[in-house]
Amino acid sequence: MKIAIIGMGTAGVTVLKELAKSDKFQEMHIDAYDNPINMGQGVPFQNDSDQLLINLPAAQMSLNLENRHEFVDWYQQQSTFKFSNPEYLPRFIFGHYMKAYLDEINNRNRNVTLIKEAVSEVFIESKIGQTDVTYHVCTSYDMERCKSYDVVFLTIGTLSYHDPYQLKGTPGYIHTPYPTYNTLNNVKDTDQIAIMGTGLASLDVIRYVTDHHNNFPIVVTSRKGHLPSVRGEMPDITFKYITPERFNKIKEKNFGNVPLDDAIALFLKECALFELPVENLVNRKKGNPIEDLKYDLEHSETLGKFQSILELIKENLNWIWNSFNRNDQKVFLQKYQPILKANSNPMPPRTAKLLIEYIEQGLVQIRDGLENVNYENNKYHFVFENQTLDTFDIVINATGSKTQLKDLDSDDQLVVNMENRQVVQAHPLGGIQIIAETNQVISPRYGTLDNMFALGQLTNGINQSRNGVTMIVKQATDIVNRLLEK
Ligand SMILES: Cc1cc2nc3c(=O)[nH]c(=O)nc-3n(C[C@H](O)[C@H](O)[C@H](O)COP(=O)(O)OP(=O)(O)OC[C@H]3O[C@@H](n4cnc5c(N)ncnc54)[C@H](O)[C@@H]3O)c2cc1C
Repeated sequence: MKIAIIGMGTAGVTVLKELAKSDKFQEMHIDAYDNPINMGQGVPFQNDSDQLLINLPAAQMSLNLENRHEFVDWYQQQSTFKFSNPEYLPRFIFGHYMKAYLDEINNRNRNVTLIKEAVSEVFIESKIGQTDVTYHVCTSYDMERCKSYDVVFLTIGTLSYHDPYQLKGTPGYIHTPYPTYNTLNNVKDTDQIAIMGTGLASLDVIRYVTDHHNNFPIVVTSRKGHLPSVRGEMPDITFKYITPERFNKIKEKNFGNVPLDDAIALFLKECALFELPVENLVNRKKGNPIEDLKYDLEHSETLGKFQSILELIKENLNWIWNSFNRNDQKVFLQKYQPILKANSNPMPPRTAKLLIEYIEQGLVQIRDGLENVNYENNKYHFVFENQTLDTFDIVINATGSKTQLKDLDSDDQLVVNMENRQVVQAHPLGGIQIIAETNQVISPRYGTLDNMFALGQLTNGINQSRNGVTMIVKQATDIVNRLLEK
């Protein structure tokens, strides 16, 4: 069996690691594709500043579902990297742990080949009148160099960054914030810097830029100006009301769907078990960044329980989300997704404390109400809601990655090409169409592709908000197990 894994970050490495467990592994010929920099580490865990931290305690990050402590054990056993506060380790350390897996499997097995090139085309060969398909993977536009496979895993991670004000290509605009240590390469000490976006990526940039630049304040801005929440004390929980059994019963009486209102009622019952003041928690942000951060730090117990519930919702969002009808999915995205987003992937408490310090010392200014940015006379002009204007020399884009195929350009050429060749098609709510239960790709031309699997953010329409390491590892493990059973 010839297998291609396209993208060797968290998902790709996990796929390979799970395949390697099979008795039939030696009968497989596996080509693993990625560029030489990200091979084995992926984008979030690439080599970067040690100030960029994993957003949950290291003891909760592992590629091994049967051993939650594996990453921490690996960290303690090696001697190359040592940090004084190992509870929240730098992200690149997790990348080295993943890469150690890849190197070990690659060194031990001659049937694995690492191809250190980006894939530019994946196309399907099928003879007219026949339904059998063969998958082809190419790293150039020379068809002679394409290779054919029986099974393909599309594990290419996040799509490229949004460019909300069409600034890509203008001087001083840094379109992608990673690796953060490259962001200041062409910046003068006297330049005034604005960071666009106030989500997790902006925190990474703030940490690096405040330490390596001299002209303050660094202005961090977005429409709402909301920073991510702060991680509370999150207990391990299980759901009593939101269960597949209960959902199946509701579906029997509702034309195969669970009405959103019913699901929300169950959610509120879960919250009631912990006596959570849901309304207060949802509306707790007052628009003053220091007060908002302090509120989270001071309510870590209550907030932690709420975050645990939301995290468990995310882990199970595949069957929860796919039980809703399309209208309810749209309502969910509008009404509830922002709440989920605002409270997921919280920052470590020590990042919050540092941010408070930066803001109090005037190093960082958080501003809301951003309406427009344009570039004129070598300056970026920021227009805010209250009609105030501000100018900057450098803009670092931390607005997050695209989710919809219609927004893609040459930065995502592989996906653009696959859509054009009718290998994949857009899901109306984002990413590409797959079967929710199996991650098999649904092609508009060939129907369900039995042996082409996609996972990660490329499937965000189906896998709403399910992009954390544990969720990716679970998906990859399930897909490989199902494939091996076949
Ligand atoms: C900045 C950031 C921080 C995060 N921090 C955390 C965290 O602390 N904890 C957590 O649980 N989750 C975190 N996440 C979520 C994270 O996205 C997932 O946990 C996980 O890393 C995603 O794995 P992936 O394999 O889908 O993507 P990645 O790990 O990024 O892997 C995708 C790989 O595909 C490669 N690729 C792309 N296109 C091609 C192509 N054409 N040909 C070949 N290769 C290609 C890329 O180079 C990359 O190596 C973070 C995400 C981001 C963006």
